[in-house]
Amino acid sequence: MIEKVNFIKEDQIFSLLEKGKITDKNEIREILAKARDCRGINLEEVAKLLYLEDEELLNELYDAAKYIKDRIYGKRVVLFAPLYTSNECTNNCLYCGFRHDNKELHRRTLSLEEIVNEAKALERQGHKRLLLICGEDPRKTNVKHFTDAMDAIYKATDIRRINIEAAPMTVEDYKELKKAGIGTYVIFQETYHRETYKIMHPVGMKANYDWRITAIDRAFEAGIDDVGVGALLGLYNYRFEVLGLLMHCMHFEEKFGVGPHTISVPRLRPALGGALKEVPYNVSDKDFKKIVAIFRIAVPYTGIILSTRERAEFRDELLSVGISQISAGSKTNPGGYEEDDDHADQFEISDNRSLPKMMETICQKGYIPSFCTACYRRCRTGENFMEYAKAGDIHEFCQPNAILTFKENLMDYADESLRKMGEEIILKALEEIDDDKMRTLTIAKLDEIEKGKRD
Ligand code: SAM
Ligand code: SF4
Repeated sequence: MIEKVNFIKEDQIFSLLEKGKITDKNEIREILAKARDCRGINLEEVAKLLYLEDEELLNELYDAAKYIKDRIYGKRVVLFAPLYTSNECTNNCLYCGFRHDNKELHRRTLSLEEIVNEAKALERQGHKRLLLICGEDPRKTNVKHFTDAMDAIYKATDIRRINIEAAPMTVEDYKELKKAGIGTYVIFQETYHRETYKIMHPVGMKANYDWRITAIDRAFEAGIDDVGVGALLGLYNYRFEVLGLLMHCMHFEEKFGVGPHTISVPRLRPALGGALKEVPYNVSDKDFKKIVAIFRIAVPYTGIILSTRERAEFRDELLSVGISQISAGSKTNPGGYEEDDDHADQFEISDNRSLPKMMETICQKGYIPSFCTACYRRCRTGENFMEYAKAGDIHEFCQPNAILTFKENLMDYADESLRKMGEEIILKALEEIDDDKMRTLTIAKLDEIEKGKRD
């Protein structure tokens, strides 16, 4: 029996939201000035920003978010792709195409060989980081499914980091994931509002709010120190979700001394065979952009992940308000990188651009596409990572690593035009490395890559 958690204080969230409604421009500007110290802001301040509607102040919020992202992370944008290993599921989440009662869905769990083929297909596109995802069906996708998949992919490909997004597990299972070399463990609470959670998850293991919200605690206890959180935007009032998610982060800080490595911002999409006829709490683009910027300034040291649920032009716009990781070329059906099946998708994707196309756009926006996994290989994870990030030092590593992994990609996968554009970006990015020694070292390593050396 799992105990009812008390770290998401709904009464407090409602009271913060009530107080947050009354603010004046000066107060908002003071909050934004404080945010620029890159030490985060408190929940009262977040609540106030969540009510911003004034265009002038919103632009000041976006400027602050951009300033913080550039200062902490440099210009890099990390790229990855999801790899769906199964769409079989015993739950019935009303919003999801994989839900058990969706009889229209073509169900499929990939064999190990098929999983490796998918990973190879992504590797051929130039990917180095994958996110394994599937439905929740203990008979098909238990912990062994993941550890076998990780073993096989690490052995058969040059994929350097495998993150996993999966249903809650026991501490023992998380220890197995850790042993097999998991990168980040990701799980979305979907909604922090208990009543809504109950409606959206009527049956199955996922019906238990407390078992799900304590999943990350168990992952930490098992020694996984990079974790990712998220709320599915559109299920309930977004202002409540943002505060709920930040309370969740504060709980980790208090109990484990470290916040989450990433926050994802999934927004509800149409799903074939989903049971929701409309989005219960529609989140407009304007509000979505505000949410991303607020997360960036509230928890500056946490990566923010944007998926292909969002439209291409909008994704490009969001890069400037604090997104630090982005998926590209994604498919949401198991086996999707080998063959399409629109009756096996979890939800509809909005941005269908390929990885090279996405890289081109990132370059055009003045950012550096990164395939960096150096933090993990050099043990800058969890608390360690946060120390660097909080001291504002992480870009000292991110910028050179982004440059080097981008260069590898350009040499190994890019066509003539992307390579030319990329080389120009690299030259500019080198100039932005403040530390002379680090710049010289990076130039020497670029030379080695040119000669064929790989990390
Ligand atoms: N089955 C596991 C679980 O529920 O935690 C693994 C992740 S599930 C395949 C991936 C995530 O997709 C869910 O946590 C949910 O937030 C999101 N999702 C489900 N249906 C969606 C939809 N219609 N639009 C956008 N995101 C959706
Ligand atoms: Fe299954 Fe996850 Fe979809 Fe829920 S969100 S139906 S648990 S795959």
